Amino acid sequence: MALLEIKNLVKHFPISGGFFGRKTGDVKAVDGVSLSVEDGETLGLVGESGCGKSTLGRCLLRLIEPTSGDIIFENQNITEMNFDHMREMRRKMQIIFQDPYASLNPRMRVGEIIGEGLQIHGIADGAELKDRVMALLAKVGLREEQYGRYPHEFSGGQRQRIGVARALALNAKFIVADEAVSALDVSIQAQILNLLQDLQEEYDLTYFFISHDLRVVEHVSDRVAVMYLGKIVEIAPADQIYTDGQHPYTRALLSAAPVPDPTRKAERIVLQGDVPSPINPPSGCSFHPRCAFAQKICSEEEPPLVMDGDHGAACHVFGPGATVKPN
Ligand code: SF4
Repeated sequence: MALLEIKNLVKHFPISGGFFGRKTGDVKAVDGVSLSVEDGETLGLVGESGCGKSTLGRCLLRLIEPTSGDIIFENQNITEMNFDHMREMRRKMQIIFQDPYASLNPRMRVGEIIGEGLQIHGIADGAELKDRVMALLAKVGLREEQYGRYPHEFSGGQRQRIGVARALALNAKFIVADEAVSALDVSIQAQILNLLQDLQEEYDLTYFFISHDLRVVEHVSDRVAVMYLGKIVEIAPADQIYTDGQHPYTRALLSAAPVPDPTRKAERIVLQGDVPSPINPPSGCSFHPRCAFAQKICSEEEPPLVMDGDHGAACHVFGPGATVKPN
C-alpha cells in the first residue's frame, strides 16, 4: 500500500534579471515527477548533484512549496493543506539533513533540540519531556549525561544521531534522509545506516533516502529511482537496478561506482561533458548530449517513463519503452 504518492510534481524557481527585475526564465529543478512510496519501504533516490534530488525531498514536506502537482500522504493531499494542518502533518513527516554541523542550533542544548518538537506540539513538558528525550538519546546510541551538552561537543556521527532522534521524537512515519551520511567517514556512515535500518524495523518507518552515492543507496534501499535534470529516468527494485540497469545514465552511474562483486557486469561508460543547465535543458531526452547511444529521435522527442512490472525506464533505445534498436 502506498504511504505517499507524488503526482506530476513540478518545482520551478523563477529567475529575474535586467533593470526592471523581470522574470527571465526558470530553473526547472523538479520537472514532472510521479512516484509512489510504499508503507515500510526505503525508496532510494540517486543522481548527480544538481539533478533536483534535494529539492524534490524538501517539496515532499513542503519545506519548499511545489509549483504544481500533488503529494498524497495517507490518502490526504498535503499540497492543499493550510499552515496549521500541514504543521500537524509534519509530526509524521520528518527530514534528516546532510550536514550534521549546520542542521543543529549551536545555542541549544541537545535535550532542547530533541525535545523542541514535543514541546511545540504540546505533547510533553517538564519531567515527562525529559524522560522522553532521555529514552530517545538511548535509542540512537547516545548517553543520558549528554542531554545537557551543546552540538559542538559532539562528533559528526554523534550529531547525526541527534538529528535522527529529533526526527523520531514525534513518532514520524515517513522520513526523508537527504544525503544523511554523505558528510561522514565511511566507518561512521555504516553505523548510522545500521541505526536507521534498526529503527525502521522497530518503528515500521518509511524512508525516502536521497544520495549521490550508489553504494550507500544499494545498502539500504528496497527500490531505487534514478533522477536526471529534474525527472525520473529509471525506477526498479534495488537488485534489478544494480544488475540490470537499462537507462544509459543509470549504467554510466553504476559503471563509475566501485563494485566488489566480480559476477557483475564490468562495463565502463564514461559520461561525456557536464550536466546541462536546468534553466534551458536539452530538447527531447535531456540526457542526449552526454549519451553514447543517442540517436536522431533522442534530441527530438522526450521518452516517457514506461513501466514493465515494477521496472521502468525513460529511453527510446533501452528498457520497456524502447522503440528503436541500439546503433
Ligand atoms: Fe540515450 Fe536516447 Fe536513451 Fe536518452 S533516449 S538515454 S539519449 S539512448
